[in-house]
This record gives sequence, structure tokens and C-alpha cells, in this order.
Amino acid sequence: MRQNIIAAVLSVVSLSALSIASSSAARVAQPDQRYERIAGAALQRGGAYEFLQSLTETIGPRLTGSEQSRAAADLLVKTLSAAGLENVHVEEYPLRSRWRRGTAQARIVAPTSLPLLVQSFGWAPGTDGSIEAPVVDAGSITSASALPDLSNHPIVLADFPGDRTEPGYVTRGRAARRLAAAGARALIVPSDKPDRLLDIGCFGNYPAAAMPMLSMAKEDSLMVRRLLEQGGVRLSLEVTNTLDTTPAIERNVVAELKGTALPDRVVLLGAHFDSWDTATGANDDGSGTAAILEAGRILKSLDIRGRRTIRLVFFSGEEQAILGSHAYVDAHGAELDRIDAVAIMDEGAGVPKGFRLHGRTDLEPALRAILQPLAGLDARGLSQEASFDQDHSYFVVAGVPALTLWVEPGAYETHHHAITDTIDKIDRRTLAVDTAVMATAALALADADTVGARLTAAQRADLLSRTGLDKSAAALAEPLTSSGGR
Ligand SMILES: [Zn+2]
Repeated sequence: MRQNIIAAVLSVVSLSALSIASSSAARVAQPDQRYERIAGAALQRGGAYEFLQSLTETIGPRLTGSEQSRAAADLLVKTLSAAGLENVHVEEYPLRSRWRRGTAQARIVAPTSLPLLVQSFGWAPGTDGSIEAPVVDAGSITSASALPDLSNHPIVLADFPGDRTEPGYVTRGRAARRLAAAGARALIVPSDKPDRLLDIGCFGNYPAAAMPMLSMAKEDSLMVRRLLEQGGVRLSLEVTNTLDTTPAIERNVVAELKGTALPDRVVLLGAHFDSWDTATGANDDGSGTAAILEAGRILKSLDIRGRRTIRLVFFSGEEQAILGSHAYVDAHGAELDRIDAVAIMDEGAGVPKGFRLHGRTDLEPALRAILQPLAGLDARGLSQEASFDQDHSYFVVAGVPALTLWVEPGAYETHHHAITDTIDKIDRRTLAVDTAVMATAALALADADTVGARLTAAQRADLLSRTGLDKSAAALAEPLTSSGGR
């Protein structure tokens, strides 16, 4: 009892001491505790990894337009609703085509007879039976390359390393259309990956590639090139894919935590739940999906809200041509002035370094201060490297401040779009730290006085040409099945 009286006296003293202290000091102490609780929950609960396991090993691969993609959206809705997040719903958008992988076989038929390891790129057609043709090695095709002689209707072997003018996928998509129009039967691209791993990403093929396109193991491609140095090489190919151009529907999934002071202003956290079909998409982008879902659950369960609304958006269709986020930006055009920041996670569950700003140097001073709560997680770095290959892209085009999580690459590139993108590559603790970073950034951005202005049309044009992102944006907007363009 005596101890209780002393404790009561002490608490009165400390309360009055607090009330004498300046209100700004009290404001400083409060956020620190919230950030500590967020990071503690992310590390202790392991909720992101647990969700990632059910996403990847109950549903599995989540190809855009597939039943599994629909099941993944349903699982997100169910999980977000169960966690008590607000305004949980799906937003539909039209899909111009769906694609199913069949089989892909390749053989050298002259001067020897040997099988080759290949897989079809996504959204590429089949060969309509077995075809046989000579191989032409076009070497490295860049933005300025001339086409090889295609008069004998060959199978073309070519690399697309990208150059200062445009990324390789832009060159590849355009070259494939020109090669097909000029008589090529198929395009084979040597994989960059080690250990005969293949890369079946097809950014830029949607809604339909102009001819069969295959990834071939690096080792097999080197063999074909060695044989070509000695004379002619003929290949046989048989690819059976299904491309269905009946209009269909895909869905993005949305959930919110309403803001306390500025509920109409939004900080958007995003990731994509679709994946390639040959693995379970654990890193790309199951990890981002799980991290932002868990970030939302943590904030909700700790009853921590930002001044602005924190909105989680789970995009689909990313692997084809960032379809889900493109549709989202189009559908929310009237609202974009109220989206004060976007933060996307889609580089895999690597050790976090900070955020990429994609050329928005004007945001740096404010973000250095706003993202101070990430100091303890050593994730306050800012990079200006710009890319057009994640769901931030059309927000950047629209002038909305858009960040992407910047992580140490680790072995991400090896397993990305390969059969090895599975959950055994995910480090639980690193995924938990990424989750803490995304939740911390969401709250810090949602509480900021100002993040940065939406760019004017002139400023957007300047940003896109300065960063070269205009080339990628234009390439994805080209009519892909035509043979037009350069
Ligand atoms: Zn991705």
C-alpha cells in the first residue's frame, strides 16, 4: 500500500513535469514510440513470411488472367478484411489477352543432333507444328542496329543488352516485330543466368508477341554460336502456347487505414501479386505483397494511424506491361492531386538501403527529413536511378511523387523470372525488416507536413526526357502486333 502511495505521488509529479515540458518535446517522444512498436511487431510476429507461405504454397504461381490470380486476389480480400482494414475492395480493369504456356522443344538438327534447353517467353505464340530453319546469329541488337539478312526465313539468335538510349526490353520488343515482318520464323534470346537457368519475362510482349520467342540456356547458346563459327546450323522448334484474345477482366485489390487529420489525402503502398508461371513468385513479387499486407495489419493492430489515409494497393498484370497500376492511374486521374506519395516494393526481400526517387531530385530535401525514422533500420538512403519496370512508373508519368524500395540485390537477378523464384530464397528476418521499413515509411509520409508537389505537364515532360523514361513509356504504348516503329 505504501509503495502504491509513493508511486501515485511520483506519477503526479511526473505528469505535472510533462505538462510543464514544451508540447513540441511531447510530440517528438510520441512518434518514436510508435516507430519502435512498428519495428518490434514486424520482427516479432513474422506475419509477412507466414502470408507469403500461403500465397506461394497454397495458391502457387499467379499468372495474370489465370484462376490462381483470381484466387490470390480473393485471399488478399479475405486476409485484409479479417485484419480489420477499411474499404477493402477489388477494382476491375479489362485484359486484352490471356496466355497459357504449352511445351517448348528445340533441337540442333544439323550439323549434329542435340536437344537444347529452352522455354517460351510469355505472351508469345506457338510454332503451329514443328518448324525447321537455319540459324542466323544477329549478335547484340541495340537501338541503332541494322537487321541481319533474313531472306532464307531463319530462326534468329540475338542478345538485347540495352544501351544509353533505351532498356533492352524496349529494343527486344521492337526488333521482334521488325524481324517477324522481315521473314524471321522465331527469335531465340540467350539467358543471362547461370547454371542453365532460363528467363521467361516478356515485358513489352502484351497483348501478343509477333512470333515465337524463346529463352535459351546460356550454355546451349554458346554451343550454337561455336557451331555457327564452323558453318551452318539448323534447328527444329516446336512450341505449343495458347493465346486467347477474348476480352477478359483482371483485378487490383485495395484496402485503407483512414487518416486522422487529412483523410482525403493519401499515401499509397503498392506491390504486385501476379507472378510468372514457372515458379511461385516468392520474391517477385510475393515478398512485396506480403510486406505491405503485413505493414497494414501491424498499423491496424497497434491502432497507429497517420494524419493522411494509408492505402494499400495490390496490383495484378505487372509482369506483362504494368497493366494493373496503369489501369489504376487511369481510373484515379481525378484523385491524383490528393495522392501525396506512392511507395512500391518490388525488388525482392533484400537488405533495405532506402528508396529510389526515379529522377525526382526536388523531393530529396523533404524526404531526408521525413524518412528520419528509418535511421535505426539503416534504410535512409536515396537513389536517383530511374526505371520504368515497376508499378511506380505510371505514377511518375502522372507527376505523383513515387518511391520504390531500394534493396541490396543479393541473388535476386539469378532467380528473377526463373524456375527458382521460390520461398526457400527468402530470408525471414530480412523480409521482416523490409516490412518494418515499408510500415515506417508509410506512417512517416502520412504524417509529413508536405512531401512534394505533383509535377506540372512541363515538369513531367522534362523529368521523362531527362531520365530516358519517355522511351520506355512510348514503347509500352506502341501497337505491339504491328511491324511499325523503328
Ligand atoms: Zn515484379
